[in-house]
Amino acid sequence: MPKRPIGKSDAKKFIVEHKYWTNRHLWPNTTIALSTVNSNLADPTAHNVYQNEPGKHVERFFLEKLQELSQNEELVEITANLVQNYSPCATCADEIVNFKKTMEERQRSFSLTIQFSSFYNHDDNREGLKNLVKNKIIFKKVFQGEKDWDKFLKNDNFVTLTTDDKQELLKMAKSDARRKREENDNEILNDIIGEAKDNKAIFSSNKININISDNIAFIMLHETKYCMIFSWT
Ligand SMILES: [Zn+2]
Repeated sequence: MPKRPIGKSDAKKFIVEHKYWTNRHLWPNTTIALSTVNSNLADPTAHNVYQNEPGKHVERFFLEKLQELSQNEELVEITANLVQNYSPCATCADEIVNFKKTMEERQRSFSLTIQFSSFYNHDDNREGLKNLVKNKIIFKKVFQGEKDWDKFLKNDNFVTLTTDDKQELLKMAKSDARRKREENDNEILNDIIGEAKDNKAIFSSNKININISDNIAFIMLHETKYCMIFSWT
């Protein structure tokens, strides 16, 4: 497991600048997850860093930690947050959903927000990602733009960098190639969330997206990042 806070080489694994799955050799083959767990127990806040090992993904390590916590009969609720360099695979997604269901069967609440910086094979894992959305696991937008990266690189709960290293990583994160990937990935994520919520995309192009869900219409203009919402009764 990497030590917390992570340093430059691990922080760099969050910043992939290439178009999805091109230059495969430059994509990190490790997944890193930064987790924050709050609960009603005496030590409510815990920050952890997980890294995958052969045959064991980061989410499994995270769930083991939560299962340990859930042994305590006084546990009532867990609110957790994961920040990862890759999105969860379908198997891990199902395990997260199963953990949530087990918590709920025991009259406990579990909420989880996941933010990631790059998709992990979103075609093969699409159904798993949709399963998370259907079970009210929240996806925060893929890291996008300088503000998000600055916040990530300055979060001293997790990351420690010299000023020069931080500038170097920020420059990579702000590159045109990375910015395009982020726009593209956020469109894919929006589509996945829309499909899971059974929104109907009535029109979609690289400039505009129109979705209808019940009595609400969402109109997204990608270039301006404006979203207009119309509802009717
Ligand atoms: Zn997995």
